[in-house]
Formats: sequence, C-alpha cells, structure tokens
Amino acid sequence: MPDGLPAQPQGLRLRNRRAVLSAIRRLRRAARVDVARDTGISAATVTSITAELVAEGLVEEVLDEAPEPGERGGARGRPRVLLRVRPDAFLVCGAKISEDHITVTLMDFEGGEQLNHVARMPRGSDSAAPVAGHLRAAVAEALTLLGRDFGALDCLGVGLPGFLEASRRLVHWSPCFRARDVDFGALLDEAFPCPVFLDNDANLAALAEQWFGYGKGVPEFLVVTIEHGVGMGIVLDHKLYRGGRGIGAEFGHTKVELDGALCRCGQRGCLEAYVADYALLREATTALDLGARPVDRQAELDALFAAAKAGDAMALSIFNRAGRMFSLALANLVNIFDPALIIFSGEQMRYDFLYGTRVLDQMRDNALCLDRPPPEVRVHKWGDRLWAMGAAALAIDGLTDRVLGSRANDQSESRPGRTGPSAPAY
Ligand SMILES: [Zn+2]
Repeated sequence: MPDGLPAQPQGLRLRNRRAVLSAIRRLRRAARVDVARDTGISAATVTSITAELVAEGLVEEVLDEAPEPGERGGARGRPRVLLRVRPDAFLVCGAKISEDHITVTLMDFEGGEQLNHVARMPRGSDSAAPVAGHLRAAVAEALTLLGRDFGALDCLGVGLPGFLEASRRLVHWSPCFRARDVDFGALLDEAFPCPVFLDNDANLAALAEQWFGYGKGVPEFLVVTIEHGVGMGIVLDHKLYRGGRGIGAEFGHTKVELDGALCRCGQRGCLEAYVADYALLREATTALDLGARPVDRQAELDALFAAAKAGDAMALSIFNRAGRMFSLALANLVNIFDPALIIFSGEQMRYDFLYGTRVLDQMRDNALCLDRPPPEVRVHKWGDRLWAMGAAALAIDGLTDRVLGSRANDQSESRPGRTGPSAPAY
C-alpha cells in the first residue's frame, strides 16, 4: 500500500487475525470470550476469525480440562470449548550462534520445545560463509536427532552477536567472523530451504523472556545480557524496540568513562570494556599473572571469581570496579526508560558481583527516585538455550506474519497448516 493512504479493511483484518492468534498463544488455552477481552476485539469478530483460523489448521478446539462448576449445586457443568494454537501446524527452529558453538532448539508452532542440541564450531573464521555452513550442519544434526529432515522444517530464526540490522539481515560486525558489512541473509537463504529470520542475540533474549520467562505479560521491560559482550533488549508496549535504524539498544557501548578502556568496537570507555569477560580477563592477566593470553577463558574467569570469593584483594578490585561501572550504566537506563522491570539474563550471571546488593544500591543511588520504588530487578541464569528459544520465537513470529498475510490476501482459498507432506502455505 502506498504511503499516506489510510489503512484498508484488509490491513485491519490482518491485524485482528494476528492479534487473535497471538492472544491464543499467550493465553495457551482460551475461550473466545477471553480472547475478545484480551484483544479488545468484538466477540462477533473474534468468533469469525477463530473459525477461519480453525479451518486453516492454525488453531484447534480442546475441551477444558477443569470446567467451571455448574450453576446448580456445584455439579460440574459441560466442559467449555477452549482454543489453542495447533502445535503440529508447523515445525520451527531457533539457533544461537556463539563464537565457538551453536545452540539449536526445535519447537512446535505453539512454542513447545521439541529438542535442544549444541554443536561445536571452530573459532576465527575470516568470512561468514563457513559460519552459515556450520549452522546448516548443526540444524541438520538436530533434525536428525528428532527423526526429521529439512523437508519438515518450516522456518528458522537465527541469533548472532554483534551489530546487525534485522530487517535487512545485514551484519555490520560480529565476533563470529572477521568480514564486515556481510549480507548474511543471502548466505542463509542459500543454506536453508525455508524462510530464515535474523536478529541480534540480545533482542532474542528479550523475546525469550517475553514468551517464556519473567517478561510474560509485562508491557514494558528491559533485558540486560552479559556474556562475551554486554547486550540489551527493549520491550515497549509488548513489542521489541530495535531503534529507528534497526541497530539500537547497544547498551554495552554506552560510555561510562571519557577516554577510558579500549573496547572491541574500537572506541574507548564503553561499558563492555569494563564488565564483559574479555575485559575482566584483560585485568586478570596482569593481576593474577596469567600469562600473555589465557588459553581457556572460562577456566580463567572461574579462577578469577574464586580468587575474589576467597578474599584476594586484586581480584576483588577487578570485580568491584566492574560492578561500579555496571551500576552507573544501569542508573542511566533507569533514568531514560523508567522501567518497571529489569531482567539480567545470561551465563555470566553466575558471577554475582554484577547484581549483588552493593551494585543495586549504587544503581538506586544514581537514579532519580522521586516518590516511587526503584524498578524490580530479576536475575535469570539461563544459558544459550534461552537465546535459541528466543530465536525460535522470532521464527514463529515471522512465519505467523507470512502465513496470515498470504491467507488474508487470498480469502477464497483456505489452506491447512502443515498436516503431512504438503508444502506450508506461505
Ligand atoms: Zn564499544
């Protein structure tokens, strides 16, 4: 539709179909009246749309397992008919690419996890093509473990660390390969026979929290991830916010010190240059005499943490400095977004110095408090599985848009979801 024209009924219909399907997925089991209440769409329209979704094989009716008591004498009434997203309508895959491994999850259309698989990947690829190849192999392994093949896969969502534009699937920079400004989407389309969606891995952590974690039903929240880098996902009004040009929320590269420590991005004073694992190891290399370059960075980090816990003054000073920098940056977030909830998510959360009482107190001291309590802070120590689940949620979201869009444009043809060998209808 050309810009500037008012929305056509077709667009409204598509939005309503999407809202109804999303509500059914979020509520898991929902009566039509619940869907109408949740979406604000009239009961008559909900009834019409759900009839379409059932006919198309995207939604199915189930009997309420715990029906309301009957009106007389507490006897059990007739079971209510509820709606659920039909799990076997589609099979999707979510994959999180890290620097040396790939985590894959296979998920049904309702969001139920079918299988989780981790595959190793050699570090230090110059170009992105080998990474796409390793990804294909990892997904193939997962499908084989589930007794399926690429013919059964309807959609793939991929999470990658770095600076990337999700809408163009363009990777400006990623620690997973040395090439810059890569059209990773083209490589993914060559490698996979199904639609592939790509996003920054921290955005996928936010999606995972929204679909499966502490962010469920919360309209506004922030997810801060600390792993090899520092990332952030922003959910505003129930939607992931990616910034005006698609590469926003780079919390790790907000500046906490003028002309400070050197960051991987090439600039100085970024938060990440103080709290990411490479920053801690850089300090530890000097403080604990670890040699020029740690061989096993996880083991070295664990050793540093153990030394701090045992009271080693040098190790403690490294973590305390990182904690102070982190609290300062968090206070800036609180002042900008005024979030009700901040979720700390990721592997590094086992190092409790980043969310200990002292850090949160410092955050509150530096934030404007007015007369309201500070935001709730929750810690989620999920590993890479969380990110892969977020990638699968991205795939379900993208696939849903395509399926609903194609069917809204072709009302005369009602095609079922995947019920067997037939091709998916997008
Ligand atoms: Zn930076």
